[in-house]
Amino acid sequence: MSDDGLPPLREVIAEHGLSARRSLGQNFLLDLNLTRRIARRAGDLAECDVLEIGPGPGGLTRALLSEGARRVVAVERDARCLPALARIAEAWPGRLTVIEGDALKVDPAEHLKAPVRVVANLPYNVGTELLVRWLTPATWPPFWTSLTLMFQKEVAERIVAVPGSKAYGRLSLLAQWRTDPKIVFEIPPRAFTPAPKVTSAVVQFERLEEPRFPADAATLSRVVALAFGQRRKMLRSSLKALGPGAEAMIVAAGIDPTWRAEQVPLEAFCRLSLIVASNRPG
Ligand code: SAM
Repeated sequence: MSDDGLPPLREVIAEHGLSARRSLGQNFLLDLNLTRRIARRAGDLAECDVLEIGPGPGGLTRALLSEGARRVVAVERDARCLPALARIAEAWPGRLTVIEGDALKVDPAEHLKAPVRVVANLPYNVGTELLVRWLTPATWPPFWTSLTLMFQKEVAERIVAVPGSKAYGRLSLLAQWRTDPKIVFEIPPRAFTPAPKVTSAVVQFERLEEPRFPADAATLSRVVALAFGQRRKMLRSSLKALGPGAEAMIVAAGIDPTWRAEQVPLEAFCRLSLIVASNRPG
């Protein structure tokens, strides 16, 4: 028995026949000390609702509740996990809502009250897509105040990468423009069941109330996608699609058109987005 009165996760998995499915990105964390460590990194949960994607058998869910989350709203696609999650909801009356569905399709907003923290051991196959959605909402600030997310270490390194490094790219710029992302610790493969091939890392994103530099959000996304879509080319060539004045706009933003995307700091991309947006016809 654990200190929340629920059985150990290995028993839960055996009882409900939760053999891990690779197609659902299932690598479970069964060590409740580790899941509590992750929950604590998310900050003070007492006055917060927590959105968790992919609770699985509920190791992280249980930690979020024991660490004092006001409420946890968890979205899980695998119906086999629902009975195990229902047991947790019974142990924490009124504090856990489970939504069965695909996190890319369901909108949990109606179940959440601000402030909201997002905490998840994300399924690898939808993790990046969800992150990009959370980082690029129609308006800022977004519905969440922080994200505490587990990724493959290689993805975590792309998120925090600096200009000039191989890992620097679209994800670094989207994350660093409006949040302060940090790798807070790594988790070795053996901590998961089954063990994945690669090391994982927990990334903590604190949202900035104002973007780090002024920019036009939609144009910044487009410019960065074009620049890194052909990351080996000089910008004068990768950004040709911006139109006949492309090179003049690059220069006006203080960028050398012979540079490659990975040499350009965030601030310069932001300046370029404003120039491109103000030159748009109409
Ligand atoms: N949170 C659990 C833990 O830490 O042990 C499980 C994490 S496991 C890496 C990912 C979980 O996400 C699985 O339970 C899987 O069924 C679920 N999942 C996969 N794709 C999903 C999707 N599109 N929407 C919601 N949940 C999904």
